[in-house]
Amino acid sequence: MTTGVFFHKVFSQEDWVIIGNKFKNFPQVMEHALRLPNVKLFTPQKVSEELLLKVHSPRLVQDLKESWYYEGASYAVGGCVEATEKIVSGEIDNALVFSVAAGHHAGHNSAWGGTYASCAGPAFLNARQRFGEIKFAILDTDAHHGDGTRELFLNDAHVLHVCFCGWNRVEGGGSKVCVDVGWKTTDEDYMSKVRQEFISRVREFKPKMILHNLGHDTCQGDYGDRGLTPDFFPQLVREINQAAKEVCQGRYLIVTHGGARADVAEYIFPKIIEILAVAD
Ligand SMILES: [Zn+2]
Ligand SMILES: [Zn+2]
Repeated sequence: MTTGVFFHKVFSQEDWVIIGNKFKNFPQVMEHALRLPNVKLFTPQKVSEELLLKVHSPRLVQDLKESWYYEGASYAVGGCVEATEKIVSGEIDNALVFSVAAGHHAGHNSAWGGTYASCAGPAFLNARQRFGEIKFAILDTDAHHGDGTRELFLNDAHVLHVCFCGWNRVEGGGSKVCVDVGWKTTDEDYMSKVRQEFISRVREFKPKMILHNLGHDTCQGDYGDRGLTPDFFPQLVREINQAAKEVCQGRYLIVTHGGARADVAEYIFPKIIEILAVAD
């Protein structure tokens, strides 16, 4: 049992668009969790431009290359690509991948909201190039709709995308689902929606791996506040980790997403590593 943690020191050195400098005290705050015997810290490599160009338009990639956050985004996407490959190949069981400037608002030709390159797009494409056609499930529990990810996989029946946002919608032949969590919810109500709308579907879908866009912008006092408490996030991971063990031999990749509260990030991510690393 091995848990990979993918973190690059540049993530702690900038004030990133939307999420700010929430990783300023990382990786130090994860020190205890990183010393657990099953945990391995990886320094990600930059994603190749060639792989980015298979997912994004030349114009988007050019704009990204000219931006100050290109380096951060490259390491974030690179970490996601490498972690997915290692999980699918069996080198590691699960992973926590830190991300800045990359994520679910990046589609083929447009990107906004602090995420300027896709994580899932290059990661899945690379894994499929190496290991053949693979089914993936994406769970998106950031406060906002994952529009970029939805666009990239809309016609891909081998990707289940369940997004917890602000409306109810089913598209893409049933494999693309949005769930309205309401503007004010509770830990219990949100979790029961995740069980109903994601865990039940993922059991049917039987993916090779679950990729989880874990935003904590839904936390009380953050910019996407839906009323959740900091303790919600480790509990969510505990239940998804159990589901992953049940349906896909524990293959579970978490990518950090929205949320600007550094105290919440510092509280939840060490706990999340411990949950991933401790087999039960
Ligand atoms: Zn968000
Ligand atoms: Zn959505």
